[in-house]
Amino acid sequence: MPEACAPDAGRVRPIIDRNRCEAKGDCVRVCPYGVFAIDLLSAEDRSQLSLRGRIKTFFHGGKQAYTPKADLCHACGLCVTACPEKAISLEKISSA
Ligand code: SF4
Repeated sequence: MPEACAPDAGRVRPIIDRNRCEAKGDCVRVCPYGVFAIDLLSAEDRSQLSLRGRIKTFFHGGKQAYTPKADLCHACGLCVTACPEKAISLEKISSA
């Protein structure tokens, strides 16, 4: 477990900026908990892209990073640092 990790999961989750992600996969490689996967952009996400985002996505095979295991995030921040497009931020999960 990286030093910066929170002792337990579920405090934050990674949010991906759909207009920045280029599916380069650095997040997949660095995350110690396997939070990320590269997948085809969903129709809903595609419909919300800016023109710039649509152009970028077209040139990267219509794929982007997703977070199928976001609940395993331990807040280490490695993905935020690794993403060359600065597409990832961590959002606090409110304990309602
Ligand atoms: S901050 Fe990023 S790299 Fe670290 S556990 Fe969470 S999703 Fe994985």
